[in-house]
Amino acid sequence: MRNLKKTVRAVFALTVLIILSIIVGSFIGSELSYRVTPEYDYSPISYTTTTLIDPNFIEGKIYVAEGQDGSDLQVTKRLVIKDLKIQTSFETIHTDPINEVVFLGKLSKSEVIERLQDNLKNLFSEDKEKYQNLTIEDFSFNLSERTNLSSNTLSIGNIDVFMGNCNFYNSLKLNYLLSLKNYEFSGIPEFENSLCEKYKVPDEPFPTNCTDCTYYPVDKTHPLSRDYAIEVINADGIPGGQKFSKAAYGHLLDLYSAAVAAGHNMRLTSAYRSYTDQEEVYEAWVQYEMGFGKSRAQAESDANTYSALPGFSEHQLGTTADISSLDCIGIETVCAANESFWLWLKDHAHEYGFVMSYPFGKDELTGYIHEPWHYRFIGIELATEYKTKYYGRSYPAEFLRNKKLY
Ligand SMILES: [Zn+2]
Repeated sequence: MRNLKKTVRAVFALTVLIILSIIVGSFIGSELSYRVTPEYDYSPISYTTTTLIDPNFIEGKIYVAEGQDGSDLQVTKRLVIKDLKIQTSFETIHTDPINEVVFLGKLSKSEVIERLQDNLKNLFSEDKEKYQNLTIEDFSFNLSERTNLSSNTLSIGNIDVFMGNCNFYNSLKLNYLLSLKNYEFSGIPEFENSLCEKYKVPDEPFPTNCTDCTYYPVDKTHPLSRDYAIEVINADGIPGGQKFSKAAYGHLLDLYSAAVAAGHNMRLTSAYRSYTDQEEVYEAWVQYEMGFGKSRAQAESDANTYSALPGFSEHQLGTTADISSLDCIGIETVCAANESFWLWLKDHAHEYGFVMSYPFGKDELTGYIHEPWHYRFIGIELATEYKTKYYGRSYPAEFLRNKKLY
C-alpha cells in the first residue's frame, strides 16, 4: 500500500511538472511570437447600373459610362494582438468604378450630324481665314462603346470629317455635355494642325530625298531618284519570274495564297523594275506608238498615259506588282479569268496591304488609265484605311500625299 501511494504521488508530481512546463513554455513562446490578425473594417462598395434615356443622344447607340472611376477610399485596418491590445491603422485603397450609366438615345444619326454641322459652322466662323478653303462633305462616326464620365462631360469617341478640298478625313474628338444635352468638339488644335490644302500640281516635278520610299506618293510630279534602290529578291514562290522587295515579300506571298485559295491562278506579269529597266520599257512603248506613224513627241505623250517615265514608276519601289491570271495572256483585259481575278483583288488586296494605284474614273487625276492589275504595297493598316474610307473618292498617291509619311 505504501509503495502504491508513493508511486501515485510520484506520477502526480511528474504530471504537474509536465503541465507546468507546458504552460510556462507556451507563455515564453507566446512572448516571442505574437499572433497578429489584420482585419479590414469597411462595408462592400455598392456597384449600381442605371439606364439613362436621353432624347438628345444618338439612337441605337448604347453607351456604358463608368461612373466614378477608381475612387480612393480610406479604410480602417485593425490589428488584433494577442486578445489584449487592439491597434488601429488607416489605409487608402483604390476601388472599382462605381455607378455605371447606360445611355440610350432617341436622336437619329442624321439629326446628330445636323447638330454637329451647326457646331462646326460656329467653329469655322470664328476663324474664317483658316477655314476658308475647307469644304465639309461628310462625317463618319468612330465611337467607343465605353467611356469615362468625368463630371458633366461624356467623351464618346471621334468624328471623322471629310474635307472635300483635298479628299481627306480629319478627326475631331466628340464629347456630349450632359447638362446642356448637346455635343461639342475637342482636340481643335490637332484638327487645325492636320488641315490639308488643295493640291496644286507643281510646274516642275520636284525630287525626293526619301531613303525608304514605301509611303512616297510616286506620281507624275513625285519621281524617285535615279539611284533609289531597295533590297529585292526573286519572287520564286509565285509564277512570273519577277523580283520583289525583300521586306514586303511575305505580304505578297500571303496575297498569293489567298488568291489561289479563292480559285485564281495568280501570276506576276511585272514587279520590280530598276530605273534603267524602266528606261527600256518606256522606250519600247514609245517605239510601239511610233509604229503607228506618230511623231516622237506624240508617241512619248501617248505612251506616258500607260507607261511611266524612268523615275516616275511605282515599279521602281520594289513593292509594286502587275498581277494577272495564268489563264490569260499577261494583263489582257478581255479575258474572263483576269476580269474575275481583278474583281477579287479589288475587294481583298487591302487585307494583305495592297492598294490599286490607278482606280476607275481617276485618269484625269493620276494621269494614267485605269489599271485594275497594278497594285502597290502600303501595309495592311493603311491599305485598309484607304479601301474603307477613300476608295472611289480618292486615289492612293493623293492619300499618301495627305498622310505625309515620307
Ligand atoms: Zn504596273
